Amino acid sequence: MVRPAMSASQALHAARAAGVELHLDGDDLVLKASAPPPPEVLDLLSRHKAEILPLLRPGGGGWSSDDWQTFYDERAGIAEFDGGLTRADAEARAFACCVGKWLDRNPATSTQRRCLACGGGDHAHDPLLPHGTDVTGHVWLHSGCWPAWYARRNAEAVAALAAIGIEERKIHL
Ligand SMILES: [Zn+2]
Repeated sequence: MVRPAMSASQALHAARAAGVELHLDGDDLVLKASAPPPPEVLDLLSRHKAEILPLLRPGGGGWSSDDWQTFYDERAGIAEFDGGLTRADAEARAFACCVGKWLDRNPATSTQRRCLACGGGDHAHDPLLPHGTDVTGHVWLHSGCWPAWYARRNAEAVAALAAIGIEERKIHL
């Protein structure tokens, strides 16, 4: 049996393959295409509209759920076919990539030089250290505060991804 969400994402892929761009306008699905889309694509889209709409809603970090799913599928495909991993390992790798991407796209920022975890300042015996990258900016944290803070950020990413259907372990039957 094909799950409804599955056929909705298949409809989306079929539409994109036919050169149709999809956008949300409130509760309307707006199509943009340089040529009239094939009738079967229109039919698929209108039949699955209710399931397609949530896929195009923001899924966090400025990406829609569908963007995240596409990124996940891409990473899993690369790991499996180019990296030679088993499907299960490729999916685990893809999930880790999604978590990393989510953290990049939802950066934490320190507004001042205070520890983001405990709010404490810079001390000679416990200096604040910058964590992060030049691209996403960095946050100041005590080295002792970092592990718990980072675990919390990861849990936040995992929960946000789970909310849009991207989960660590997908079981295919
Ligand atoms: Zn601290």
